Formats: sequence, structure tokens, C-alpha cells
Amino acid sequence: MRIFKFGGASVKDAAGVQRVASIVQHFTADDILIVVSAMGKTTNALEDLVKSFLNGKKEDCSKQLKDLKNSHQQIIDELFPQSNERLTNEVGELFLQLETIVESPAVGSFNQVYDQIVGFGELISTKIVSAYLNFEGFENRWLDARKLIRTDQNYRAARVNWNLTRRLVLDNVKSGNSYITQGFIGSDDNFNPTTLGREGSDYTASVIAYVLQAEEVTIWKDVPGVLNGDPKVFQGTELLKKISFREAIELAFYGASVIHPKTIQPLQERGVPLRVRSFSDLDQEGTTISEGVNLEPFLPCFIRKSNQQLISLATRDLAFIAEDHLSKIYKLFHEYGLRVNLSQHAATSSSFCVNDDPIATPALLEQLKQSFDVSVIGDLELYTVRHYDNSAVADIQSRGRKLLEQVSTDTYQIVIRI
Ligand code: ASP
Ligand code: MG
Repeated sequence: MRIFKFGGASVKDAAGVQRVASIVQHFTADDILIVVSAMGKTTNALEDLVKSFLNGKKEDCSKQLKDLKNSHQQIIDELFPQSNERLTNEVGELFLQLETIVESPAVGSFNQVYDQIVGFGELISTKIVSAYLNFEGFENRWLDARKLIRTDQNYRAARVNWNLTRRLVLDNVKSGNSYITQGFIGSDDNFNPTTLGREGSDYTASVIAYVLQAEEVTIWKDVPGVLNGDPKVFQGTELLKKISFREAIELAFYGASVIHPKTIQPLQERGVPLRVRSFSDLDQEGTTISEGVNLEPFLPCFIRKSNQQLISLATRDLAFIAEDHLSKIYKLFHEYGLRVNLSQHAATSSSFCVNDDPIATPALLEQLKQSFDVSVIGDLELYTVRHYDNSAVADIQSRGRKLLEQVSTDTYQIVIRI
């Protein structure tokens, strides 16, 4: 079994769905399980719907729902020359369920309501893609990922229950068939819908590949593969042909956004290679992430994280910041869900570079101020260069004023102000 994943950008319009069909036609000899995200920016639109719903804005809800219906209907109309009654009914039914949710009182916490609503993007997109591929002669069965991926109740960032998921996937996926299912969603033990975190469809593909011990996972993208930096941020970026699992985990950890960070680990455990390929050029091999070669070609890899804050803490009585202080500080960061991207410690002060979170950071700072003198510098950028060389470092240093720098054998990091 091969696992293919198509993200929102690759199914953002009818042409995208047609391209999916033309790609899978090249693989008719294999069993394929295709994981698909919501079309285009649908998940963002559904997040807005959640907000309108929870703020009691009925008119906004109706308008937002209508827009979503229209944009999907337009794609359906473009794909099918004659109306496809079954698809119309199935998509209509999903929209009806969504409408029922936002017209009834909210059930559960914010995060739970979020998960009841946003997963519809994937349910609808997969209905459309599945119907179109069948229409084009690529026979496939539609699977409801809520009946495959069992998770805990940590809504919006649900964790996979591997034992149950394994059983469910093996019960539902049989060799000799091809399938289409949703990325990003699952359900808890009570069949409440859950989501795996934004951009979580890659992870779904990886979970299923793990269970099925798939031959390969392919993520089809609008870029030729994984580059050594985001071309919107860095000049002269090049395609990386091979990356080891370990290096890929490192890159994801530092914020390389091509791959969802949780995706690699299950694949590594099973030795399932991950390929990132361009859906517009089938002749290109793309990038293969697998056991073996660390990086080929061996190039510095550049990662930028924007919207960073540097929080500096000093003891009031000039006491050393020691392990007991630090363990309390890190516990607070953890409680507020803020990951420390970089830290540096001196005798009586410590600095922490974290993402600026408009809700969590002010609350955390209040807590920290009870024990420390706190100063904060915002609007910063954190650059990481894996496998740095002099010219890579010079390039990054020239981008702004240096506030913090850290160098290890493989990795150079710097916090700068533009
Ligand atoms: N549709 C979801 C999102 O936009 C999941 C994904 O695209 O991977 O976050
Ligand atoms: Mg998406």
C-alpha cells in the first residue's frame, strides 16, 4: 500500500482535483490510500465560523455557511458535466449537519466545539475528490477517518490511541482496494470528533502508514520538494534530494514548516520513506526522507521564526538563578503552552526566546513578575542555520541587530531585531 497526501493548496479548486486524478492514474498498479485536507482555506473559514457561533453571531454564521456551500458547489459544478445526485446528497447532508450544530446550543468547551465544526472541511473535500476519482475511473472507497483514528479527548491537539487506531485501520483497509480519507481528524472513545492540530494531515498519513507498514508516503506539493530554506525568505534556495529521518526531525523542531513535526517519528520507527514531490512535475524525484544519508546535497539549511519575544528574568536579591528557579520557570512555560525556542543563562539572569502569543504571554508574564524582575523585547526573529558555514552566518547576521546567539557543532541560532 502506498499512502498519498494532498494538502489544501493542491485541492483548492477544480483544476487541483483534476490534477489529483491525473496523478493517481500513473499508479493504477498499486493500492493507494489517499489522505486529503480541506480545500484551500476552508479550515480558516471554519475557524471563523466557530468564532461567530460561539459569539452568538447568527447572521455571520449563515453568511459564512453560505459562502462555504457556494465555493464547494462551484468546484462540484466545474468537475461534473452532469449533476451527480449521490454527491450532491452526501455533501448536502454534511452541510446540513454543520448547520444543525451552529443552530443549536454549543455543547462542550471551546476546543470541543472547534473540533465538532472544523473537521467538516475534510469530510466535504474527500467526498468531492472521491466521487471525482471514481468518475474518472480510479475506483476508490471513501473512509471516515473518525472511524479510523482513535484519539484521547485533548481537543484541537488530540493524541492518537495507537492500539485502537491500529485495530480500526486494519479492520477497514483491505489490500486490493484504493481508498480516500480525511487528514487532520479523528474521534475520541465517545465518538466525539477530534483534530490533531493545524496542518495535521501529514501526521494522519504517517499514522496510517505506520499501521499498514506502507511502502512509502508521498506528500504532493506545489513545490519541487524540501528546499534548504523557504524561498520567500531566503535567496538561492536549493532542493534537498535526501534527508535522513533524524535530520528531518531536527529541521522540523527548529521550525522548518514543510513537514508537520509529528509526522516523521512513526515513519522512522517503521522505516517507511517519506517523499515530498511536486504535483505539477511528475518527472522530478522530489525529496526522499528515509534512513541513511543525512543530507544530500550537503548544504546549510535556513529556518526563520518570526514573531518572537525575548523574555529576560533577573533575581531581585542577586541570588543565582539555579536549578530550582529554572525548573519553576520551565514549568510555567509549559503550563501556558509556550515553547522555549532558545534560552541562555547567566549568574543572576536568564533569557528565553518564545513565540509571542497574545493570550498566553501576558498571563505568563504576570506570574513571572511575582518572583523576578522581568523585561521583554518583542517583534524579533529567530534564525536557525543547520550545518552553517561562515557565509551563511554572515548572511543572517547582516539581517538585523543581534540580541542573542548560540552556536553548537551543527547549529547556529541567532535572535535579531530588524
Ligand atoms: N485542513 C487542516 C489545516 O488547514 C489540516 C491540514 O491542512 O493539514 O490545518
Ligand atoms: Mg489545510
